[in-house]
Amino acid sequence: MTNSLKVFKFGGASVKDAASVKNVASILQKYSTQKLVIVVSAMGKTTNAIEKIIQAHAQQTGEARDLLEQLKQQHYQIINELVDPTHEVYDTVNDIFVEIDWVLDEEPDPNYDFLYDQMIGVGELVSTTIVAAYLNHAGLPTQWVDARGIIRTDDIYREAWVQWDTTMENMQEKIKPLLEKDGFVLTQGFIASTEDNYTTSLGREGSDYTAAIFSYCLDAESMSIWKDVKGVLTADPRKFKNVTKLDFLSYREAIEMTYYGAKVIHPKTIKPLQNKNIPLFVKSFIEPEGSGTCIKAEVEDHYPPMVAIETNQALIHISTRDFSFVAEHHLKEIFDKVATCRLNVHMMQNTAISFSICVTDIDDRVERFCSMVQDEFNVVVDKDLELITIRHYQKEVLNQLRHGKIVLLEGRIRRTVQIVVKDVPILERIE
Ligand code: ADP
Ligand code: ASP
Ligand code: MG
Repeated sequence: MTNSLKVFKFGGASVKDAASVKNVASILQKYSTQKLVIVVSAMGKTTNAIEKIIQAHAQQTGEARDLLEQLKQQHYQIINELVDPTHEVYDTVNDIFVEIDWVLDEEPDPNYDFLYDQMIGVGELVSTTIVAAYLNHAGLPTQWVDARGIIRTDDIYREAWVQWDTTMENMQEKIKPLLEKDGFVLTQGFIASTEDNYTTSLGREGSDYTAAIFSYCLDAESMSIWKDVKGVLTADPRKFKNVTKLDFLSYREAIEMTYYGAKVIHPKTIKPLQNKNIPLFVKSFIEPEGSGTCIKAEVEDHYPPMVAIETNQALIHISTRDFSFVAEHHLKEIFDKVATCRLNVHMMQNTAISFSICVTDIDDRVERFCSMVQDEFNVVVDKDLELITIRHYQKEVLNQLRHGKIVLLEGRIRRTVQIVVKDVPILERIE
């Protein structure tokens, strides 16, 4: 069933300062008569800044309070430029920051992931409070909603999985009635809560996914994410010069590209939209009138080569200590530990006596995995690698990307090539 609801998502870059918040308001002005759910991320690099506060607290370095003070000041500065000094938003924002103060008053919780989720969402809570206050101030009636009362997850902190049934019920009971009223509904990306009301997060960059959850549950007519690029490009413009915009992309193509590191959309975003055939528009908040990219089901399959790069990869080579074959029961054991350590496997390859996996090197997960399998297997790890994925590859593009790199692992399925590479040390290159 379709209705006229649209879901918009504005990321950190689109609300990084007061001028950007005003720009968001001017985009929204054009939709003032529409039913709109708006999902907003933390401002600019706030989430990184809160991560530093969490680390400082967990390690008791003594810096946490100063870092928090800096972050507060940055936000007050932005509020100053948006509303007058007597506005109640100052107190509301202050109350939200007090939640971090309270955590800092206590001994750090030994469960780092839990501690992280109890603090990280303050970025989103503050940004949405400020944006909602400004929209109301600018004559765009907006209702602020706490996403934690809507999106229910399990308790896998920092990477929580959505419990769809309860989330769906909450949407019907709490969001639908708000949509009957005039004005926008505005909420936070990235955060959710468990059934015991502890805050969880959906994984870094998860606000796109939040917007997809709202779109799915509310049968949105379309979803738009507003970015600092014209749309989905053939590669990251920060890393490559000659990139072009894709006007259309199929869900499948978008899932593959984002899963392998095209950072423009969170990889989990596409599936809920695909399941209900909801088109996703990637648009520019700098040039809002531009056509952007439309991601949908039926798209002609003539794509140019597209490149996605995932950094921070580790290649783990596992072999049996007695040079016996790597047999099924070994693989079973290895995969069991892969799951326990929540390793994100991007590529794997086996020979008779060894098995290699390319994974994202997050926190100490690789070290934990190695220590678990070391008794039974020889384990060698290469770190600081890049996984380069080229879809619809052409030989010249592949050769260019290999240049100056050592290829440690290569795989090819139909028109997709993946290579795990490291930079050639300078001396070797000169020879
Ligand atoms: P948000 O502000 O919503 O968090 P992001 O900064 O996470 O947005 O995503 C936008 C960025 O994604 C762009 O600035 C660009 O550098 C990067 N990017 C990576 N791959 C692509 C791609 N294929 N097309 C467009 N942008 C890409
Ligand atoms: N603020 C969160 C992050 O920076 C979520 C998001 O922006 O999507 O990861
Ligand atoms: Mg982002």
